[in-house]
Amino acid sequence: MKLIGDIDPLIKTAILYRQACQLALNYGFRNKTYNRKKLNAATYRLTREQIPQLPSSLVQCARDQAAELLKRERCRTLPTKKRLQIRYDKRTFKFYAEQQYVSLSTAAGRLNFKINIYDYCKQYQTGIYTNAQLIIKNGKALLNIQCRMPDVQSVVNLDSVRVLGIDRGIMNIVTCSDNSFVNSRRLRAAKGRYQYLKAKLQSIGTASAKRKLKKLSGAERRFTLDVNHVIAKKLVRKPYEVYAVEALRASSWKARGRRLNRMLGGWSYGELLTLLTYKSENVGKRVVRVNPSYTSQRCSMCGHTDRGNRKGLEFKCKRCGFELNADLNAARNIGQLGRSELIRLSSTSQS
Ligand SMILES: [Zn+2]
Repeated sequence: MKLIGDIDPLIKTAILYRQACQLALNYGFRNKTYNRKKLNAATYRLTREQIPQLPSSLVQCARDQAAELLKRERCRTLPTKKRLQIRYDKRTFKFYAEQQYVSLSTAAGRLNFKINIYDYCKQYQTGIYTNAQLIIKNGKALLNIQCRMPDVQSVVNLDSVRVLGIDRGIMNIVTCSDNSFVNSRRLRAAKGRYQYLKAKLQSIGTASAKRKLKKLSGAERRFTLDVNHVIAKKLVRKPYEVYAVEALRASSWKARGRRLNRMLGGWSYGELLTLLTYKSENVGKRVVRVNPSYTSQRCSMCGHTDRGNRKGLEFKCKRCGFELNADLNAARNIGQLGRSELIRLSSTSQS
């Protein structure tokens, strides 16, 4: 994130920080040690005397960084610190996400800087900020902030965890237990267009047609990836902590999955799951995979499982008479399975 304002004090601080780091590097290299305590004992006073403007907390950050560089080189070569860069830890920087500014230790004392928060970073604003890296480049000051997301597993009361069940199908790419779905019409229409064009180019068969064909399949791949990104983003924004999805393990389900993917013109459910998983983890949510057997035959109301419960697109329970769209019923089952899986996972991780 770019820092806004007068960055001269930051540049001055970065130069001093580089000197302090090099001092520790030189000592460590001469004495073949990357032990922090030893480096500190040997260089701290000297550094404070030679570079009195640099705050003592930043002297320590510089020494820690020197220790890591020495360790990486196993003290065989003398690392030189060239870049103007400062590593900040939780004592030397503070990030005020809502007010959009940071406070940093500098040679001129503690200073505040306004920052531009990129849109994609906004999802991390609930995290715990552990450290940051300041980089001076081309007269600009950039700050990378590392943050740790709160862990869903540490949520004590599992009953309060909201679980969204997700089923997949052909008419709807995904159906969610909150009654929402993503229709596949747009995807299928686009796939149809791509297939039509591909067939046409294939029948021409000239070199230029082959080139166009190659370009087209690249475009098609990017198109489905984009569709999956959009779906995953939409799902992650929903107010749920956990997403329950079908596991793709069993071979019979893999075969079913391949059939479904093919019907959607080579669209990949696995890719959607990968995207959903990493996007969820980035915001401290998680994805649990459940065994999808019987999810379409089981009544999400009373639990009665019977092959005859399902008739095409409709689900009607033979025992309790509960009626619902079949995909939605399956999504609710997946959600319920997800919750039991979560309870199982948390009890095994505690014992
Ligand atoms: Zn029932």
